[in-house]
Amino acid sequence: MPVLVMKFGGTSVATLDRIRRAAKRVGVEVSKGYDVIVIVSAMSGKTNELVGWVNETSPMYDAREYDAVVSSGENVTAGLMALTLQEMDVPARSWQGWQVPVKTTSAHSAARIEEIPSDNILAKFAEGMKVAVVAGFQGVSPEGRITTLGRGGSDTTAVAFAAAFEAERCDIYTDVDGVYTTDPRVESKARKLDKIAFEEMLELASLGAKVLQTRSVELAMRYKVKLRVLSSFEEQSDEAGTLVCDEEEIMESNVVAGVAFSREEAKMTLVSVADRPGIAATIFTALSEAGVNVDMIVQNISEEGRTDMTWSCPVDQVRRAEKAMAEAKSGDVFNFGELLADTDVAKVSVVGIGMRSHTGVAAKMFQVLSNEGINIQVITTSEIKISVLIDRKYMELAVQALHDAFELDKAA
Ligand code: ADP
Ligand code: ASP
Ligand code: MG
Repeated sequence: MPVLVMKFGGTSVATLDRIRRAAKRVGVEVSKGYDVIVIVSAMSGKTNELVGWVNETSPMYDAREYDAVVSSGENVTAGLMALTLQEMDVPARSWQGWQVPVKTTSAHSAARIEEIPSDNILAKFAEGMKVAVVAGFQGVSPEGRITTLGRGGSDTTAVAFAAAFEAERCDIYTDVDGVYTTDPRVESKARKLDKIAFEEMLELASLGAKVLQTRSVELAMRYKVKLRVLSSFEEQSDEAGTLVCDEEEIMESNVVAGVAFSREEAKMTLVSVADRPGIAATIFTALSEAGVNVDMIVQNISEEGRTDMTWSCPVDQVRRAEKAMAEAKSGDVFNFGELLADTDVAKVSVVGIGMRSHTGVAAKMFQVLSNEGINIQVITTSEIKISVLIDRKYMELAVQALHDAFELDKAA
């Protein structure tokens, strides 16, 4: 039997009624002759609540116990989905990550999937079971402890299962009917894309578009998984939603495919560090050892042998960075004047593979921001994206102005 993977996000399993609607959709695919692997998220809001409880109990928590707690939301929806399917006379069974087992690294709260043996589930399919419902977001470490894959990780569970079972397709059911030129909650003129290239989706996801977890796109690209994003609230045809695919499969596309943004950024500046070989290596080694994910970096012009070093990182890692820098200073690893942290910034990026062959995108982007009176604090570029750090209060304005200027509401 061909295998299909269907993933339902938090809003799609938020109530018993919605679980029933999702189960009906699964039933339709079963009746077409598929063996289905259903991946479920926790009910929407549940994981946030669990994270909140952990933080309140223990601010410097043990990550193994964080995973024990926050993985639990998916256990509930997996069981409920299996029961709902059984009520509809569809033979179904639920599986927690450790039962499959979804083998991961031991990097708690940000584990990576290493292997998914298929024999357990295939044996059940052979016995006549039609649907394996798997709790998303969770796995088991080599030490035998429960792990989680980072926020949004059920997308990655879904793609990893699609790869392991050579599924015909991996359908991601969510609360929007596909991937848009930008988040439709911020720009009402955002346009749904019928297709988007893996590379573009990868950039959009890693720059803040949370419709797919970045790692899930990476896996889909590597294992050639046919990945589709679609709404669980609308009737669906086989062509519905957005297909994430190789760029060769896309005939026409705009130079800029989309605009992404991230509110959760901070800008930090080490004032007055020695300008000598090795200083950047020392600073960023200390930050990396402290678990700080540095994104943009700027080293300013030096004066009298001293310079300022600026970087951006997730806003919830500022404390960790401050601690690491204070320790480096007191341990005489290196010296600096002061450490500034600006937590009121946002990152806005334009993404498109067309930038490889078109010039002038950066110039246009900077002009648009300047017309709106928005000051650019830090810039980074790659072959297919340009990102700027700006004052957070201008984020929505910047996204809308860029969406307009690049005419993303119109198809190529
Ligand atoms: P789920 O719970 O189903 O995993 P998420 O909240 O993680 O859903 O992702 C869906 C949300 O992603 C949408 O509601 C939308 O607000 C947001 N989003 C951000 N950027 C985009 C984009 N470019 N296209 C579509 N949705 C986007
Ligand atoms: N429930 C997890 C989260 O909220 C995983 C997911 O939904 O993808 O991050
Ligand atoms: Mg998600």
